[in-house]
Amino acid sequence: MNVLIIGSGAREHAIALKLSQSEYCEQIFVAPGNAGTEMFGTDACIDIHNFEELGKFAADFNVMMIVVGQENSLVAGIHDYFQQSEYLKHILVIGPKKAGAMLEGSKGFCKAFLQKYNIPTARYQAFTEETYLDAVEYLRNHSYPAVIKADGLAAGKGVIIAPTFEEAIDTLDDMLHNKRFGNASSKVVIEEYLDGIEVSVFILTDGKEYVLLPEAKDYKRIGEGDSGLNTGGMGAVSPVPFVDDLFMQKVKSQVIEPTLQGLQAEAIDYSGFLFIGLMNVNGDPYVIEYNVRLGDPETEAILPRIKSDLFELFRALHEHKLGEFKLEIDPRTATTVFLVSGGYPEGFEKGKEITGIENVDPDTLVFHAGTKIVNGKLVNNGGRVIAVTALGETMDEALAKANAAAEAITWQDRYYRHDIGFDLKNVGV
Ligand code: AMP
Repeated sequence: MNVLIIGSGAREHAIALKLSQSEYCEQIFVAPGNAGTEMFGTDACIDIHNFEELGKFAADFNVMMIVVGQENSLVAGIHDYFQQSEYLKHILVIGPKKAGAMLEGSKGFCKAFLQKYNIPTARYQAFTEETYLDAVEYLRNHSYPAVIKADGLAAGKGVIIAPTFEEAIDTLDDMLHNKRFGNASSKVVIEEYLDGIEVSVFILTDGKEYVLLPEAKDYKRIGEGDSGLNTGGMGAVSPVPFVDDLFMQKVKSQVIEPTLQGLQAEAIDYSGFLFIGLMNVNGDPYVIEYNVRLGDPETEAILPRIKSDLFELFRALHEHKLGEFKLEIDPRTATTVFLVSGGYPEGFEKGKEITGIENVDPDTLVFHAGTKIVNGKLVNNGGRVIAVTALGETMDEALAKANAAAEAITWQDRYYRHDIGFDLKNVGV
């Protein structure tokens, strides 16, 4: 079977690697892909936002399955487009339709859903420019810090934690009046700050049955000790030591099951990955957000721990047999460290030659993100450039290997965090 993966990050590289290990996958196409995904198949130079072009490519190359890596295509309705087309509807699309993708596409929709189905989450209220004065009043009576979120997709940058009322008002003005995130911030959600430690839980679901994937913790800030600006993600660890059976039982009964019941009650036909961002507050899970696809860099840490054939897992989704699917998981710890261009997440230079990949221990996985081949040389072509993942019997062993690989790969001004997993060392078992 031929498969098309949509995206160009290390996440899509990890998906391509995992699918390439399946005997059922013949050709793998990645659109638009990167210098790394080309090692497993063919990078397809097509405009992924143009569904007609994608459909034509899928039909021409006999694609039978599309794995959508990133949220924009799902929120824009890629699944709906394929399903509505007479000659494309036989293609299995891994990822929800537009209605389900709203769980990520609108924070207001997500919060209303959580509240309606009694799923634990921070208290909130949503506001628009018309209700600006109500928002000011709401903030005046709010506890601090307060969390202010742009309603729509903002590439992971639309959440501001305001320590004081004055800063909250500045953020509100910035989002509602100055349209800091364009249309995405024409509506905002103001919510209570949750004090705890975060964990990401992933399921693959057909809206009724689900398979629980390994959980992970990611590191969003650019600086060590979780300081500085937010990024797309600087590293990840899986499993997460504090996620024991009791916590996972609560996640299942208080979060996953009511979420699936809610989707059914809303008649949302959901099919694909669901990534649940949780805050562990004194041992209880609270939902911070839903994402309707896998995370990046979490995917680079969780897929290497899945021993089962990913294609077979997708087939079980298609055949509504997820309930009986026994996922085989490597008990070892996987750690991922992201190498980024100096200056990221602000300005950085592209086109610097990357060296040293050949010196990385062959057991360590090297996933490309912002890379490109120019005149036969591998160069950086984005902010987040390469993710390295190592497995170990302990987190320390995995981290030592991942950090050694990160050190071996270099280019002018490359940067990585040396402290991934720092906060997990004394937590839990
Ligand atoms: P989101 O895009 O909603 O996942 O938010 C991005 C990040 O902001 C999260 O990963 C958390 O670190 C932080 N965050 C979001 N909501 C809250 C909250 N209610 N309390 C504390 N931190 C939050």
